Amino acid sequence: MDRVIFHCDLNSFYASVELLDHPELKDKPVAVCGDPESRHGIILAKNEPAKQYKVQTAETIWQARRKCPDLVLLPAHHWKYREYSKKVNAIYERYTDLVEPFSIDESWLDVTGTLHLFGGDGKALADEIRRVIRQELGLTVSVGVSFNKVFAKMGSDYKKPDATTVITRENFQQLLWPLPVTDLLFVGRAAARILGGYGVRTIGDLAAFDRDSLGEILGKGGYTLHDYATGREHAPVIAARDMPGPKSVGNGLTFPRNLMGWEELRTALSELADEVAARLRKHGLKCTTVQITVRDPAFKDICRQKRLAAPTYVSRDLTDSAMELLRSCWNERQPVRALTITAQNLVEEGDAGEQVDLFAADAIPRRDKLEKLEKAMDSIRDKYGRGAISLASAVHPEGEREDQRLPPTD
Ligand SMILES: [Mg+2]
Repeated sequence: MDRVIFHCDLNSFYASVELLDHPELKDKPVAVCGDPESRHGIILAKNEPAKQYKVQTAETIWQARRKCPDLVLLPAHHWKYREYSKKVNAIYERYTDLVEPFSIDESWLDVTGTLHLFGGDGKALADEIRRVIRQELGLTVSVGVSFNKVFAKMGSDYKKPDATTVITRENFQQLLWPLPVTDLLFVGRAAARILGGYGVRTIGDLAAFDRDSLGEILGKGGYTLHDYATGREHAPVIAARDMPGPKSVGNGLTFPRNLMGWEELRTALSELADEVAARLRKHGLKCTTVQITVRDPAFKDICRQKRLAAPTYVSRDLTDSAMELLRSCWNERQPVRALTITAQNLVEEGDAGEQVDLFAADAIPRRDKLEKLEKAMDSIRDKYGRGAISLASAVHPEGEREDQRLPPTD
């Protein structure tokens, strides 16, 4: 028997949560950003009216303002998003214990074993869940219903906001195959470019492509993509409590405009590092290796790693190492399209002390201080929101700004 999988995706999540406190702004173009005072701050989310002006996530405030001078900017409150994310997942768990969060605003639900308790109809249950979330939390969600995770996710993207789309064995070719291949999960622009060279533009083209040839062209990922396109994907929904701890923690961003110059690059890296460090602290893990991946406008990636003198989960350490790596492999005048920073070789916080490099002993007092400071900032931000405190002003008045975490896609 086929499984019944839901993929639930909250619509314009950050912006929707902020607008709960500003109902008067509902019909105005609104964007959420880390620091509304900084013109280099980055747009994290926007509401529907702002989308009409083509305001984009990850562009800078000044770029967005050029397109939409009346754009209302609201500061991000990450503690609120975490709280709402928990509440939403708690609602999902009323319907099944198999709830797998994919990101702060997206989760998969496997309701195969429980659907009969709620009437037996997948679409009706998805509509009911949407209604309950709207009524209890004031948020809207798009739901995809299908027989596997990938098609369920595509269903939630198919129509938004506030909609249910059912992808069946009967209709998936008609609904999904005309879509561009980039709409398929994990088909990045690089893979799309390679596929384009073989005349593969739509998901249907991909499905019609010979599976073994695809494997030769793209490696193991080629087989996976072919399985995705043809509905032969069988990955289980894994409840959050059964998830293994992370092996690495990474965060990346493709910029709508190329970045150039050490200052801009450092700002971007510190934003990425901030989120990585916060996630490491949340898991009680420190990293001993930092890796950066830099992509140029021609989609050429350069990847560099560095072993650290001592394990860390301090944002500033990650930024410094990433910046050092960047300077070693990049020219300041070379434009950057995308950046990723990944913390690797993770060790438990408590075990980390034994691995400290003796030669780096001098650095320990400074690191202790920074650890305490950043942890304190976690709790202040959790309480008062992100704008409440910034590392730049607290530690290095002349140094880099610490800014927003990265947003969910809508
Ligand atoms: Mg979303």
